[in-house]
Amino acid sequence: MFFPKIDDNILKLFDTYDKFVIIGHENPDGDCISSSIGVSELLKKLNKKYVLLNAGPFTKEKDLEYLFKKEPNDNEKKDALLIVVDCSTSARLGSCYKYVKDMPTLIIDHHESGDKSFGDYKYILGDSPSTTLLVLQFFKALNVEISEEAAKALFFGFSTDTGFFRFLNKEQSHVLNDVYLLVEKGAVISDTYDKMFNQNNKEQKLYVASLIKKAQFINDDKLVIVRDSKYLLNKYKSANRDSDALFDQLLSIKSVQAIILCKYINGKENVFSLRSKNNSNIDVGKIAQSFNGGGHFHAAGFKLKGTEKQNIEIVKSKFKEYL
Ligand code: 5GP
Ligand code: MN
Repeated sequence: MFFPKIDDNILKLFDTYDKFVIIGHENPDGDCISSSIGVSELLKKLNKKYVLLNAGPFTKEKDLEYLFKKEPNDNEKKDALLIVVDCSTSARLGSCYKYVKDMPTLIIDHHESGDKSFGDYKYILGDSPSTTLLVLQFFKALNVEISEEAAKALFFGFSTDTGFFRFLNKEQSHVLNDVYLLVEKGAVISDTYDKMFNQNNKEQKLYVASLIKKAQFINDDKLVIVRDSKYLLNKYKSANRDSDALFDQLLSIKSVQAIILCKYINGKENVFSLRSKNNSNIDVGKIAQSFNGGGHFHAAGFKLKGTEKQNIEIVKSKFKEYL
């Protein structure tokens, strides 16, 4: 079996606890938001109380933001289990971490590079293409009926983290059985594609165009460096800064092996997003870890304090050994 059996001690938690706090990482993406919703659907079916938390900001799936609180109240936390999804690094809970740090914690995640000391119970599998597929294993193990709502959310998270199936590797093809189950339970492939790719507004495309125009191609066009700016943030606003579309465009260039995107946040630090081509041997996850960030082999990120110019030089030099 591709997905390991969930430990009985972990499954028992769903019997022992009556209240739950669900949380994912700050700057949530499709997989994070969908995993949170997937767990809430599981708890609903089990007749449990829960609250959804996220530090935000929501730049994706903004229509679902209203489901999430920024802070739990004392009653919601009392005698509750914290379930952390799509994150195993405490710092990535952002401003919410301080409210939940003393709670008993179960982590469900597909990032292997997290804090070893974070969490009391863990179901972490780096080989899983999405966290939502790990959440699905809880439905199966607890014999909980997968509602149409849950199937749609879990399939959406899988679709966003795999770039709509494109990033699945040979070993991961086993998961198609699980994906089939979600489709059987009501997820619609064509609707999901439409939601992912055909809902852009003009600003999102113009933002990507501005970045590509400024992109710097180095090392025989193998590495691309893209710099976001305060000007672009003000012009297009964070909700329109869709970097996935940027990566798709740049990785479609034959020579390009990897991308460094340096995002402007406040002038004192930058957020870096790294990508490498599917068949490339550039482990951007390892590079991100060397800056205390994390992610996967071909997609990773981190924050770096300092000026943009210096930061870019430092990050660029880390790629040298691969190019
Ligand atoms: P993105 O570039 O889309 O923000 O992130 C790509 C991947 O890297 C995702 O799996 C994301 O969770 C991970 N990632 C991004 N930023 C960080 C970070 O600061 N720390 C860790 N541990 N992972 C990150
Ligand atoms: Mn994920």
